Amino acid sequence: MKEKVPVSIENDNPSIARIKERCIKCGRCKFICENVVGIKESKKHVCINCGQCLLNCPTGAIVTKYNYKKVLDYINDTEKCVVVQLAPAVRASLGECFGLEAGENTEGKIVAALKKIGFDYVFDTTFGADLTIMEEANEFVKRFKAKKNLPQFTSCCPAWVKYIEIFHPKLIDNLSTCKSPISMQNACLKTYFSELEEIPKEDIISVAITPCTAKKAEISREELIGGDYSLTTVELSLMIKELGIDFNNLKEDEFDSLMKRGSSGGIIFASSGGVMESALRSSYYLLTKRRPPKKLLNLKEVRGYENLKQASIKIGNDKIRILVCHGLKNIEPILQDIEKGKIDYDFIEVMNCPGGCVGGGGQPLVAIKDQQIINEKRRHALYQENDEVKEKFSYDNENMKEIYESFLDYPNSEKACALLHTKYFDKSKILKED
Ligand code: SF4
Ligand code: SF4
Ligand code: SF4
Repeated sequence: MKEKVPVSIENDNPSIARIKERCIKCGRCKFICENVVGIKESKKHVCINCGQCLLNCPTGAIVTKYNYKKVLDYINDTEKCVVVQLAPAVRASLGECFGLEAGENTEGKIVAALKKIGFDYVFDTTFGADLTIMEEANEFVKRFKAKKNLPQFTSCCPAWVKYIEIFHPKLIDNLSTCKSPISMQNACLKTYFSELEEIPKEDIISVAITPCTAKKAEISREELIGGDYSLTTVELSLMIKELGIDFNNLKEDEFDSLMKRGSSGGIIFASSGGVMESALRSSYYLLTKRRPPKKLLNLKEVRGYENLKQASIKIGNDKIRILVCHGLKNIEPILQDIEKGKIDYDFIEVMNCPGGCVGGGGQPLVAIKDQQIINEKRRHALYQENDEVKEKFSYDNENMKEIYESFLDYPNSEKACALLHTKYFDKSKILKED
């Protein structure tokens, strides 16, 4: 085999590293990065931390940078209150690390495992996802009425946000200013939770378990205060194994109250199309003051595995033109059109990974040929939970009503904007660096 150049990974990459001794110089990582993720050639290689090269390396030469040992040290430090939140995609994939079928939902066992590991509080990131929807749907409705900064782009995928900041800084104002669910929840942990539980924020260590390597880079952004560690699904499996916990025989447990769980809209965030479906449910309510129709509880137009899904959704007298995309390569021509002033859409959801976060770089490794089938099974598990959960709308979630009434005032209030929204920066100069 002719040797090929591997993708370049800098030492200071917060998410991934390459073990040189394992690399057979097959060049697959570079191919995936350029042709599947869609990172363009530049003087210095740009990494958006997505971990797709890792999932596709045949020898395991690309690895996640692990932080879980530091988290275990904090758990053993009795002075600290270590709080964990569980992102939705993890419940549909962690079981694979313990010999269970892909798509078997192990939410209750994961909560039990996290409590056994020694976390002081175990919360569900679907709470943060509902907060994101409350903020983002309100933001969208304002922009839509004012016809300003449209199309609105979702902002919960840090790989996508970084892509815009570097390759399309002219479109920064199109990004929703909403922080991602984990970052909204982190901000609430160090304020709302800290005040209610009377624990100084300096003593709270906030940990997120996510399917995502890029979240490690996200929490290192200076403007996103509150997050201390982001661990991947695989890191959680290592913690469970190293502590000798018999995962498969654990008795199911429940999340702690206060940030207990979100509506079904928060659960489907992990699937491509899920953020859009949830946001439209709340936008419908905001625009019409009526409960959304059944169609918005099973929005077929955005549920398939296609790279690009578009639709026009009638809400009252308005038509909302939506686009859902996974894989940044697929959105690139549309971004170029928008830069030229062609605006065919009002709202665009973009996720970097295949199928959305279910296919994230921090998920359990599977045979390359089986990736799509496994991602589909993981997605199916989340849509099944969406059907089973009684609360369908973020604005109906009791925990949500409580936090707005007692702490945040109302969506997009001054306080909510200060805590839950963020800023983006033109980072295109990196493309000119050697
Ligand atoms: S895919 Fe893995 S083995 Fe192949 S070049 Fe990249 S790092 Fe090396
Ligand atoms: S993490 Fe993503 S962007 Fe970075 S090198 Fe790998 S595939 Fe490319
Ligand atoms: S799609 Fe999800 S898992 Fe993939 S980079 Fe974005 S946030 Fe992370």
